[in-house]
Amino acid sequence: SKCNSNYVPLTPLTFLKRASRSYANRASVIYENTWFTWRQTYERCCRLASSLRSLNILKNQVVSVLAPNVPAMYEMHFAVPMAGAVLNTINTRLDAKNIATILRHSEARAFFVDYRYLQLASEALRMLMVDSTQEGRSWSMPLVIVIDDVDSPTGVRLGELEYEELIHNGNPRFVPVEVGDEWDPIALNYTSGTTSEPKGVVFSHRGAYLSTLSSILGWEMGNEPVYLWSLPMFHCNGWTFTWGIAARGGTNVCIRNTSAYDIYRAIAAHNVTHMCCAPIVFNILLEAKPDERREISSTVQVLTGGAPPPASLLEKMEHLGFHITHTYGMTEATGPALVCEWQAKWNHLSNERKAKLKARQGISVLTLEDVDVKNMETMASVPHDGKTIGEIVLRGSSIMKGYLKDEEATFKAFKDGWFFTGDVGVIHPDGYLEIKDRSKDIIISGGENISSVELESVLYKHPRVLEAAVVAMPHPRWGESPCAFVSVRQNSSGQTEDVKEMDIINYCRENLPHFMVPKKVKFLSQLPRTSTGKIQKVHLRALAKSFQVT
Ligand code: ADP
Repeated sequence: SKCNSNYVPLTPLTFLKRASRSYANRASVIYENTWFTWRQTYERCCRLASSLRSLNILKNQVVSVLAPNVPAMYEMHFAVPMAGAVLNTINTRLDAKNIATILRHSEARAFFVDYRYLQLASEALRMLMVDSTQEGRSWSMPLVIVIDDVDSPTGVRLGELEYEELIHNGNPRFVPVEVGDEWDPIALNYTSGTTSEPKGVVFSHRGAYLSTLSSILGWEMGNEPVYLWSLPMFHCNGWTFTWGIAARGGTNVCIRNTSAYDIYRAIAAHNVTHMCCAPIVFNILLEAKPDERREISSTVQVLTGGAPPPASLLEKMEHLGFHITHTYGMTEATGPALVCEWQAKWNHLSNERKAKLKARQGISVLTLEDVDVKNMETMASVPHDGKTIGEIVLRGSSIMKGYLKDEEATFKAFKDGWFFTGDVGVIHPDGYLEIKDRSKDIIISGGENISSVELESVLYKHPRVLEAAVVAMPHPRWGESPCAFVSVRQNSSGQTEDVKEMDIINYCRENLPHFMVPKKVKFLSQLPRTSTGKIQKVHLRALAKSFQVT
């Protein structure tokens, strides 16, 4: 029981401590010409954690960060919880309004900002300040700490504090704050739709520990991987591999950009063995110009997910020297939930058939007790015949406890102990699951989630928009992109034709992060509705499928 003196709470923080002893002199993090060993990474994390304590960051308080895949971002995955605080990584593609909402909802006490995002962060902080004065309550703004480039410092600052200075002034022998209870929070990750209803998924130390182990096992990742950070760490803590690479004594190869040039160059320079990415990165790698490419001299293991990978792309990638494993996951499941485990008996099949099998989302990872597909009306399991569709539900120890400060959304997400994913699919007779559709209002464009509700709320603010509905439209490059259907109000002279597609698109550009802007706006005199008055999105989705986009 917990009362035993030998009870050790489950926490991924133990992976780093162990790495600092067992792999002390092995390269832990490489970035440009800078590199560290596991002993150094541990020491740097102790220093940063001690500095956070001196800055009065208390247990279970939130520390937010806006940064690309640089060493500081990696270190913070350990240092922040070592100080007893909770790490909140923010998607760098969001706009200032979304970022302000997250900072406010999470009550962030400190905000680390990579120097390249200072303008965006300042704007978000300004909005936060305005909000707090309008609400008429005393608001304590987060402490801002700039992360300068560790390899070639620029000297750019926003206020007093800088990351390397905190490390320099910290205590290398700091004893990390005890986890105490393994259910205590370690990280907070916001899902999409942050303007209207921010949903902060709370990860516990226990959930993160178990998920990390099951991700490593699910991908069969061996010892000493050389891991390329092509997946943003702000996506679900890099699908748990931030903690996972410490567990395997691997080397983190950090890059700022996921351009073809940077990825190919890093693979060649460091003999990368593993990387994760959304299928959009396949397009980037396959479309690279000859001078951006490098030969893949030994196979690179790629874990892909976040959006459905087309079978044809899987085949092309394998041809280039990448070996692909397909996973399906979500923030609420602390990362990978299903993995398309390969079976030896499939080895002799044609490449095309193999790619089709691989495009299925797969079977549950070890930390999930079960996965099922249920009829959305009766809640009964549908037959596992590969044909009958229903909503995908998950149950197990890596599913979140709930959303921060949102009991209603948490309550709605679960039924009979099952987490309802909002994804729709089938289970094949061999137990492998395949996604067919989504029932939730989310569009996944290039691996980034866009909430159609959020987009619609912006469209409705346009003075001439009467009705608006946003659905996913197939897109050759991004997989999906948002397509808006609107009906417009008459102007004073009774016209509706004077509103143009570009007017709406430009309006969205001014009010939304750019990746969320609709690629197409279709005007209808009136939107199709059901007898109960709900907009018939099924009908609009079918319409959007027929549109040609380039
Ligand atoms: P992530 O950061 O991994 O994209 P999110 O929580 O933002 O996680 O999004 C999760 C959603 O992404 C899922 O509910 C599902 O709709 C979609 N998704 C994730 N992986 C896959 C996949 N392999 N195939 C199809 N859709 C996927």
